[in-house]
Amino acid sequence: MVRLDGWNGKLLEVDLTKTKIVSTSYSPELTRAFIGGRGFAIKTLWDEIKAGTDPFSPDNVLVIATGALSGHILPSSAKMIVATKGPLTGGYAEGSIGTYAAAQLKKAGYDHVVIKGRALKPCIIAIHDKAVEVVPCADLWGLGTKDAEKKLKDAYGRTVGTLLIGPAGENRIRFASVFSMGGRSGGRPGVGAVMGSKNLKAVVVNGSGEMPAAYPEDLRKIGSNASRKLLAHPKYKMWKGAGTISIIDRAQSMGILPTFNFREGSFDAAVGINEAAMKKIKVEERGCPICTVTCGQVVHDQEDEHTELDYENVAMLGSNLGLSDLAKVSVLNRMADDYGFDAISLGSVIGFAMECSEKKLIAERIEWGNFEHAKALVEDILHRRGIGDQMAEGTRNASERIGGDSKRWAMQVKGLEISAYDCHAFPLMALAFSTSPIGAHHKDGWILGWEATAGKSSDTAGKVERLMELQRLSTGIECFSVCRFPWSQFDVDMDQYLTLYYLITGTKMSVEELRTISDRIYSLIRAFWVREYGSSWTRSMDEPPARWFEDPTSSGPTKGATLSRDGYNELLDAYYRKRGWNSQGVPMKSTLENLGINYVADSLNLMN
Ligand code: SF4
Repeated sequence: MVRLDGWNGKLLEVDLTKTKIVSTSYSPELTRAFIGGRGFAIKTLWDEIKAGTDPFSPDNVLVIATGALSGHILPSSAKMIVATKGPLTGGYAEGSIGTYAAAQLKKAGYDHVVIKGRALKPCIIAIHDKAVEVVPCADLWGLGTKDAEKKLKDAYGRTVGTLLIGPAGENRIRFASVFSMGGRSGGRPGVGAVMGSKNLKAVVVNGSGEMPAAYPEDLRKIGSNASRKLLAHPKYKMWKGAGTISIIDRAQSMGILPTFNFREGSFDAAVGINEAAMKKIKVEERGCPICTVTCGQVVHDQEDEHTELDYENVAMLGSNLGLSDLAKVSVLNRMADDYGFDAISLGSVIGFAMECSEKKLIAERIEWGNFEHAKALVEDILHRRGIGDQMAEGTRNASERIGGDSKRWAMQVKGLEISAYDCHAFPLMALAFSTSPIGAHHKDGWILGWEATAGKSSDTAGKVERLMELQRLSTGIECFSVCRFPWSQFDVDMDQYLTLYYLITGTKMSVEELRTISDRIYSLIRAFWVREYGSSWTRSMDEPPARWFEDPTSSGPTKGATLSRDGYNELLDAYYRKRGWNSQGVPMKSTLENLGINYVADSLNLMN
């Protein structure tokens, strides 16, 4: 019998159509093969979702999963995974969200929640230890995330863990996310819209038990040591005092700051939205629970309200739209958070609309740098009015409806809008976006710093090796479900995470074993995409938009740059070979067998 220390071994299955709630045990072998978090999510979605299921159908499945380290008193560990089949992309959709719900769920005696069906009327799922109920919530439907969270806290207590959606999720905007604690969000490819399609406004969790751990005393000591080290780290002050906003100046100097819908990589008025500009309107720092860094920067916006900023949101709602006044950009950011949009996609969609307007492919006047136009479009998207209805579908779908050349400047991969890094001059980062498990998201392979420096002298094999190593370790982080900051910025290496993993689970794991688990997860996620897309799946799904190949930047450090198609294809071929995928990016049968997931090959009818 395999032991299951560090986990409760139980998950909650909630069928909203039948209002049926069951607590079931799951096999310890599942954690051996997939750990938890991302691994649990993809294995569950692979098993539970029939190919071709409409993301908004009651048959779609929503997974809320803790990881092995989630919720323990360790630096930056209060994260959990929300995942589903994404309405924006039609593939695997996932996000990591900082929330009290991570610890509360484990304390309530569960590791994961799997939600199916659709409630007849708006509801929440309320979990308090063994008492779990589906509660009607007509009074919450229509509320923004801020007001809804306040009401939930009034009803269920200040320390309740929440996962909720805003009106964007209710209105099935395809890039609606899941929110917690105001500015915390996750699930960019429409995980919030799937919650809305299930008439599920929120999941709230209170737990009164102990966090499960094999060696709690040792864990506590090592956890406090790790926090002390983090506080003494030379980068601590910078990340706490400016958070990721400090990246604006760096992105500008590298020529990677998305500007005018990624037409350019630098913005003449970047000083209006950078760290110094942020500090002029800063109010306080805020962050996820159990975090000593608290990297979120809360500012006072143009309309006398407060909002929490980070780099991605400011770049996508600022320079990408030609907006240079941070107090105004902050208003758009607050609207995104309160309505429940993913702010990265929202910025990309508005930039796309501005470009379509400039090129007269749509009749509406939505001008670069025009704050009022941008604000009005946000409202139109939320209420699906006029052109807003098309934009609510995301840039890929909108470009298919608008036609003309608009596909060229729909800045997305696999339907997910590209995060805030321009890649006209950075093919390896373009590959990282294109092979990310959820579409063009940056977190699994943020390789720009290396690509701009040491990577310049590396050959193709070395570049691909480096990217894959990042993706592998990132997958470890998502399976442990912790914030990547201590790993990526504060020198906490994977061996230290594996020590924590041992103290919690009683299981020793080497970095090599973690790499194998990660490869298993990546290939299973890839198989999920291939199964969904069927015969329309080709390697073009792993390509960045035409703009980066064909439209050179006109100014800044990357002036005149474009990606080379041959160079990109060479990288992609090398990447496929290293992963054991064929020339179309489909995992080979032998690869799946080596990873212990033979059943995937049968399901995809793979011959080799
Ligand atoms: Fe959250 Fe930032 Fe802390 Fe990470 S560093 S846990 S994102 S507040």
